[in-house]
Amino acid sequence: MTAIDYDLEFIEHRTGWFRKRYTIELISIALVSEDGRTYYAANRDMPVRRIRRHAWLMKNVVPHLPKGQGDMRNRMSNRWLFHYGDPRVKPQEQIAREVAEFIQATDNVELWADYGAYDHVRLCWLWGLMVDLPDGVPMFTNDIQQEARRLGFTWDQLPKQESGEHDALADARHNQVKRRWLAEQAAAQ
Ligand SMILES: [Mg+2]
Repeated sequence: MTAIDYDLEFIEHRTGWFRKRYTIELISIALVSEDGRTYYAANRDMPVRRIRRHAWLMKNVVPHLPKGQGDMRNRMSNRWLFHYGDPRVKPQEQIAREVAEFIQATDNVELWADYGAYDHVRLCWLWGLMVDLPDGVPMFTNDIQQEARRLGFTWDQLPKQESGEHDALADARHNQVKRRWLAEQAAAQ
């Protein structure tokens, strides 16, 4: 088994007639494989107007979005939430293709996330409906919270994230730290 730890930043909101329907839209995604590969992308198609009206996302998530590299930074419009020219900013179709390839490059993969139910659903929605899940992509995500509980640990006992909280890549990397720590505890029990 090869573990892939991942994290999504997303916005969930009500939609449709009478706002009785709900959806989850992708902001950014990161995957970190046990074999050393990493992947990060921000969704060029994220709903920017809706995000602007979401104070928590503006404060906690938007500051971590790609702002361009080198000279590019100076040429970013301050009306933008992220730099449209940054190579890490990609249309959702491209993210879907690349994430499938990233996961398929590993045989016998285990997906892991922290409080991962929403992450798993939105990950699968990259490709469409449940039946559209690409070959080699697991149909479930293991949850760090469930593993912690199984082993008798509380949230406070897990390794703490030093920085970058709500940056998908930093969060995915920290998920790997927590998952490895839990595996060590399990081995010692
Ligand atoms: Mg996160």
